Amino acid sequence: PRRSLIIANWKLNGGIDLMCNSIASLVGKEFDTDIAVCPPYIYIRDMLSLLHHSEVKIGSQNVSKFESGAYTGETSAEMLKKVGCSLCLIGHSERRQMFRENNISCNIKVKNALTHGLIPVLCIGENLEEKDAGITKDIIFRQLDEGLNAIDTTTGELCVAYEPIWAIGTGKSAVPDEAQSVHKFIRECITEKFGNDFAQRTRILYGGSVSRENACELLDKADIDGLLVGGASLDPAHFLQICTQC
Ligand code: 13P
Repeated sequence: PRRSLIIANWKLNGGIDLMCNSIASLVGKEFDTDIAVCPPYIYIRDMLSLLHHSEVKIGSQNVSKFESGAYTGETSAEMLKKVGCSLCLIGHSERRQMFRENNISCNIKVKNALTHGLIPVLCIGENLEEKDAGITKDIIFRQLDEGLNAIDTTTGELCVAYEPIWAIGTGKSAVPDEAQSVHKFIRECITEKFGNDFAQRTRILYGGSVSRENACELLDKADIDGLLVGGASLDPAHFLQICTQC
């Protein structure tokens, strides 16, 4: 059985206030699930020190595909690990759409994360046009096949986040059965590529308009092992409810 993982993705939102309020609402609590927060880079260190002794993990929203050198504005997997991050989001659809990320760059990033002991959370998902055209599985297959090409599965942990683009920020979450069938397919793809053991260990998270209203029903599904929460994580009380109610 896989322990659920619930991740807050603040995106380019929040400030000192959100950081303090969200820490205040999460510290000193015990959770039945793993909890992580991905704030903007600038808050990572402060959050880690404020979270001292808490089970809550910190992740980044991105990671460089480079190790070091003349790459202005980048942050490496090694730096994130050394500062205390546990995981990093990779290939979020907003990065694919607006910052030219693709399966190839994601693959390099996944490998970098694994090399340095960060859990890569590879984000995948189809857009509305692709869903309507009935090619969701083709898109997912390709994102996994290329994004996870030749990764080392002998050490470390991998997470995949299924985030249908049409469900992100729209208030229109995938219905749990619909999400479950894609998650099942994702696990089948991982099984085919890396074997059953690794596929069973891999946590597959759902993201896209998650709220306290739909969180439990989603988490109930056999292949939904966690949630990636955007908008609702910007309200600390709402995020706490999602983390504790199911
Ligand atoms: P929303 O929860 O705001 O739909 O965002 C989902 C998301 O993109 C999380 O990474």
